[in-house]
Amino acid sequence: MLPALFVSHGAPTLPFDDCPARDFLRGLSDALPKPKAILAVSAHWDTPLPVLNAVMRNAAIHDFYGFPQELYQLSYNAPGAPALAEKTARLLEAASLPAQIDTARGLDHGAWVPLKLMYPQADIPVVQLSIQSRLGAAHHMALGRALKPLRNEVLILASGGFVHNLRAIAWQGGPEPDWSRRFADFMHQALIARRDEDLADYRGGAPDAALAHPTEDHLMPLFVAYGAGNRTERLHSSVTFGSLRMDAYRFD
Ligand code: ZN
Repeated sequence: MLPALFVSHGAPTLPFDDCPARDFLRGLSDALPKPKAILAVSAHWDTPLPVLNAVMRNAAIHDFYGFPQELYQLSYNAPGAPALAEKTARLLEAASLPAQIDTARGLDHGAWVPLKLMYPQADIPVVQLSIQSRLGAAHHMALGRALKPLRNEVLILASGGFVHNLRAIAWQGGPEPDWSRRFADFMHQALIARRDEDLADYRGGAPDAALAHPTEDHLMPLFVAYGAGNRTERLHSSVTFGSLRMDAYRFD
Protein backbone atom coordinates (compact mmCIF):
# COMPACT_ATOMS: atom_id res chain seq x y z
CA MET A 1 0.00 0.00 0.00
CA LEU A 2 1.08 3.55 -0.63
CA PRO A 3 1.27 6.01 2.27
CA ALA A 4 -0.83 9.12 2.66
CA LEU A 5 1.42 12.18 2.75
CA PHE A 6 1.06 15.65 4.21
CA VAL A 7 3.42 18.31 2.86
CA SER A 8 3.68 22.04 3.51
CA HIS A 9 3.81 24.04 0.27
CA GLY A 10 4.97 27.37 1.75
CA ALA A 11 5.07 30.42 -0.51
CA PRO A 12 4.15 30.05 -4.22
CA THR A 13 7.79 30.82 -5.07
CA LEU A 14 8.92 27.51 -3.53
CA PRO A 15 10.14 26.11 -6.91
CA PHE A 16 12.59 29.03 -7.10
CA ASP A 17 13.52 29.24 -3.40
CA ASP A 18 16.77 27.59 -2.40
CA CYS A 19 15.59 26.02 0.87
CA PRO A 20 15.60 22.60 2.56
CA ALA A 21 11.85 22.09 2.02
CA ARG A 22 12.22 22.41 -1.74
CA ASP A 23 15.06 19.91 -1.82
CA PHE A 24 13.08 17.56 0.41
CA LEU A 25 10.12 17.61 -1.99
CA ARG A 26 12.39 17.01 -4.98
CA GLY A 27 13.64 13.80 -3.41
CA LEU A 28 10.38 12.61 -1.90
CA SER A 29 9.18 10.41 -4.76
CA ASP A 30 12.42 8.40 -4.71
CA ALA A 31 11.28 6.72 -1.50
CA LEU A 32 7.90 5.67 -2.92
CA PRO A 33 6.69 3.11 -5.44
CA LYS A 34 5.30 4.86 -8.50
CA PRO A 35 1.57 5.36 -7.91
CA LYS A 36 -1.05 4.65 -10.59
CA ALA A 37 -2.67 7.97 -9.74
CA ILE A 38 -2.53 10.77 -7.18
CA LEU A 39 -5.36 12.21 -5.12
CA ALA A 40 -4.29 15.74 -4.20
CA VAL A 41 -5.94 17.60 -1.32
CA SER A 42 -4.97 21.26 -1.17
CA ALA A 43 -5.71 24.10 1.22
CA HIS A 44 -6.56 26.34 -1.73
CA TRP A 45 -9.79 24.66 -2.82
CA ASP A 46 -12.25 25.24 0.01
CA THR A 47 -15.90 24.35 -0.64
CA PRO A 48 -19.03 23.78 1.50
CA LEU A 49 -19.15 20.07 0.51
CA PRO A 50 -16.40 17.79 -0.86
CA VAL A 51 -15.81 18.28 -4.60
CA LEU A 52 -13.57 16.22 -6.91
CA ASN A 53 -12.21 17.45 -10.22
CA ALA A 54 -12.79 15.10 -13.14
CA VAL A 55 -11.02 16.33 -16.27
CA MET A 56 -9.15 14.63 -19.11
CA ARG A 57 -6.12 16.85 -18.56
CA ASN A 58 -5.29 19.17 -15.68
CA ALA A 59 -4.09 22.73 -16.00
CA ALA A 60 -2.17 24.68 -13.37
CA ILE A 61 -4.22 27.47 -11.80
CA HIS A 62 -2.03 30.48 -10.92
CA ASP A 63 -4.08 31.47 -7.89
CA PHE A 64 -1.73 34.08 -6.42
CA TYR A 65 -1.00 37.72 -7.07
CA GLY A 66 2.03 39.99 -7.18
CA PHE A 67 4.72 37.33 -7.62
CA PRO A 68 7.53 37.25 -10.23
CA GLN A 69 6.43 36.68 -13.81
CA GLU A 70 8.43 33.45 -14.15
CA LEU A 71 6.08 31.83 -11.64
CA TYR A 72 3.08 32.44 -13.92
CA GLN A 73 4.83 30.62 -16.74
CA LEU A 74 5.12 27.34 -14.86
CA SER A 75 2.62 24.70 -15.94
CA TYR A 76 1.58 21.27 -14.74
CA ASN A 77 -0.58 19.47 -17.26
CA ALA A 78 -0.84 16.03 -15.69
CA PRO A 79 -3.62 13.80 -17.02
CA GLY A 80 -6.85 13.76 -15.04
CA ALA A 81 -8.55 10.58 -13.87
CA PRO A 82 -12.35 10.89 -14.13
CA ALA A 83 -12.84 7.24 -13.16
CA LEU A 84 -10.85 7.78 -9.96
CA ALA A 85 -12.91 10.89 -9.22
CA GLU A 86 -16.11 8.83 -9.54
CA LYS A 87 -14.70 6.00 -7.42
CA THR A 88 -13.61 8.47 -4.73
CA ALA A 89 -17.04 10.12 -4.72
CA ARG A 90 -18.64 6.69 -4.16
CA LEU A 91 -16.27 5.92 -1.26
CA LEU A 92 -17.15 9.25 0.36
CA GLU A 93 -20.86 8.74 -0.16
CA ALA A 94 -20.62 5.28 1.44
CA ALA A 95 -19.19 7.06 4.50
CA SER A 96 -22.12 9.53 4.56
CA LEU A 97 -19.93 12.27 3.08
CA PRO A 98 -21.76 13.21 -0.13
CA ALA A 99 -19.41 14.59 -2.78
CA GLN A 100 -19.79 16.49 -6.04
CA ILE A 101 -17.86 16.37 -9.32
CA ASP A 102 -16.38 19.41 -11.08
CA THR A 103 -15.63 18.78 -14.76
CA ALA A 104 -13.72 22.00 -15.46
CA ARG A 105 -11.30 22.86 -12.67
CA GLY A 106 -7.55 22.19 -12.83
CA LEU A 107 -5.00 22.14 -9.98
CA ASP A 108 -4.39 25.10 -7.67
CA HIS A 109 -0.85 25.96 -6.60
CA GLY A 110 -1.20 24.09 -3.31
CA ALA A 111 -1.46 20.96 -5.45
CA TRP A 112 0.75 21.65 -8.45
CA VAL A 113 3.74 23.25 -6.71
CA PRO A 114 4.59 20.14 -4.65
CA LEU A 115 3.61 17.86 -7.54
CA LYS A 116 5.95 19.67 -9.90
CA LEU A 117 8.81 19.18 -7.46
CA MET A 118 7.96 15.52 -6.75
CA TYR A 119 6.90 14.38 -10.23
CA PRO A 120 8.24 16.97 -12.71
CA GLN A 121 7.32 14.82 -15.72
CA ALA A 122 3.60 15.29 -14.93
CA ASP A 123 2.89 11.79 -16.27
CA ILE A 124 0.85 10.45 -13.33
CA PRO A 125 -2.91 11.14 -13.44
CA VAL A 126 -4.11 13.55 -10.73
CA VAL A 127 -7.52 14.14 -9.17
CA GLN A 128 -7.98 16.95 -6.65
CA LEU A 129 -10.35 16.81 -3.68
CA SER A 130 -11.49 20.03 -1.99
CA ILE A 131 -11.41 20.79 1.74
CA GLN A 132 -14.25 22.17 3.89
CA SER A 133 -12.43 24.39 6.36
CA ARG A 134 -15.62 25.40 8.17
CA LEU A 135 -16.28 21.76 9.12
CA GLY A 136 -13.11 21.38 11.19
CA ALA A 137 -10.53 18.70 11.94
CA ALA A 138 -12.82 15.77 12.77
CA HIS A 139 -14.62 16.08 9.44
CA HIS A 140 -11.31 15.92 7.57
CA MET A 141 -10.17 12.87 9.56
CA ALA A 142 -13.43 11.20 8.51
CA LEU A 143 -12.68 12.09 4.88
CA GLY A 144 -9.27 10.48 5.24
CA ARG A 145 -10.67 7.30 6.81
CA ALA A 146 -13.09 6.96 3.89
CA LEU A 147 -10.22 7.31 1.41
CA LYS A 148 -8.07 4.53 2.93
CA PRO A 149 -9.00 1.86 0.35
CA LEU A 150 -7.54 4.04 -2.41
CA ARG A 151 -4.06 3.58 -0.99
CA ASN A 152 -3.73 0.22 -2.75
CA GLU A 153 -2.69 2.08 -5.89
CA VAL A 154 -3.26 5.80 -5.32
CA LEU A 155 -0.96 8.24 -3.52
CA ILE A 156 -2.91 10.58 -1.27
CA LEU A 157 -0.98 13.86 -1.26
CA ALA A 158 -2.35 16.44 1.17
CA SER A 159 -0.81 19.90 0.89
CA GLY A 160 -1.15 22.79 3.33
CA GLY A 161 1.04 24.44 5.93
CA PHE A 162 2.06 23.12 9.36
CA VAL A 163 2.22 26.68 10.70
CA HIS A 164 0.68 29.31 8.40
CA ASN A 165 0.11 32.90 9.47
CA LEU A 166 0.57 35.23 6.49
CA ARG A 167 0.50 38.32 8.71
CA ALA A 168 3.48 37.02 10.68
CA ILE A 169 5.68 36.22 7.67
CA ALA A 170 9.18 37.72 7.76
CA TRP A 171 10.05 37.90 4.04
CA GLN A 172 13.67 38.66 4.88
CA GLY A 173 13.84 35.61 7.16
CA GLY A 174 14.45 35.55 10.89
CA PRO A 175 14.29 33.32 13.97
CA GLU A 176 11.22 31.15 14.48
CA PRO A 177 8.87 32.74 17.05
CA ASP A 178 8.12 30.79 20.24
CA TRP A 179 4.41 30.53 19.47
CA SER A 180 5.16 28.73 16.22
CA ARG A 181 7.43 26.22 17.93
CA ARG A 182 4.99 25.64 20.80
CA PHE A 183 2.13 24.91 18.41
CA ALA A 184 4.23 22.69 16.16
CA ASP A 185 5.60 20.68 19.10
CA PHE A 186 2.13 20.01 20.47
CA MET A 187 0.83 18.92 17.08
CA HIS A 188 3.83 16.72 16.43
CA GLN A 189 3.39 14.87 19.72
CA ALA A 190 -0.32 14.40 19.13
CA LEU A 191 0.26 13.10 15.59
CA ILE A 192 2.96 10.64 16.65
CA ALA A 193 0.92 9.34 19.62
CA ARG A 194 -2.22 9.22 17.45
CA ARG A 195 -4.23 11.25 19.97
CA ASP A 196 -7.35 11.65 17.82
CA GLU A 197 -9.29 13.67 20.39
CA ASP A 198 -6.49 16.19 20.93
CA LEU A 199 -6.17 16.62 17.18
CA ALA A 200 -9.90 17.00 16.64
CA ASP A 201 -9.92 19.67 19.37
CA TYR A 202 -6.60 21.29 18.39
CA ARG A 203 -8.32 24.68 18.15
CA GLY A 204 -9.14 24.54 21.87
CA GLY A 205 -6.19 22.54 23.16
CA ALA A 206 -3.08 23.31 21.11
CA PRO A 207 -1.06 26.29 22.37
CA ASP A 208 -1.26 29.37 20.15
CA ALA A 209 -3.52 27.63 17.63
CA ALA A 210 -5.17 30.88 16.54
CA LEU A 211 -1.76 32.49 15.97
CA ALA A 212 -0.37 29.51 14.10
CA HIS A 213 -3.52 29.29 11.96
CA PRO A 214 -5.66 32.46 11.91
CA THR A 215 -7.80 30.51 9.44
CA GLU A 216 -8.03 26.73 9.44
CA ASP A 217 -7.64 26.03 5.71
CA HIS A 218 -3.92 25.24 5.65
CA LEU A 219 -4.14 22.68 8.44
CA MET A 220 -7.17 20.74 7.17
CA PRO A 221 -5.25 18.70 4.55
CA LEU A 222 -3.09 17.32 7.39
CA PHE A 223 -6.13 15.69 8.99
CA VAL A 224 -7.17 14.05 5.71
CA ALA A 225 -3.76 12.39 5.38
CA TYR A 226 -3.74 11.48 9.09
CA GLY A 227 -7.17 9.83 8.82
CA ALA A 228 -6.07 7.80 5.80
CA GLY A 229 -3.28 6.05 7.73
CA ASN A 230 -2.63 4.30 11.03
CA ARG A 231 1.01 5.07 11.80
CA THR A 232 2.67 8.49 11.81
CA GLU A 233 6.20 9.32 10.70
CA ARG A 234 7.70 12.79 10.36
CA LEU A 235 9.61 13.10 7.09
CA HIS A 236 10.74 16.69 7.21
CA SER A 237 10.84 19.73 9.49
CA SER A 238 12.03 23.21 8.58
CA VAL A 239 10.93 26.85 8.66
CA THR A 240 10.94 29.53 5.96
CA PHE A 241 10.25 33.26 6.30
CA GLY A 242 10.38 33.16 10.10
CA SER A 243 7.28 31.18 10.97
CA LEU A 244 6.15 29.29 7.85
CA ARG A 245 6.67 25.73 9.04
CA MET A 246 7.37 23.36 6.16
CA ASP A 247 6.96 20.07 8.04
CA ALA A 248 5.89 16.92 6.21
CA TYR A 249 4.45 13.66 7.49
CA ARG A 250 3.85 10.19 6.19
CA PHE A 251 0.92 8.07 7.35
CA ASP A 252 1.00 4.30 6.74
ZN1 ZN B 1 -1.01 27.90 0.56
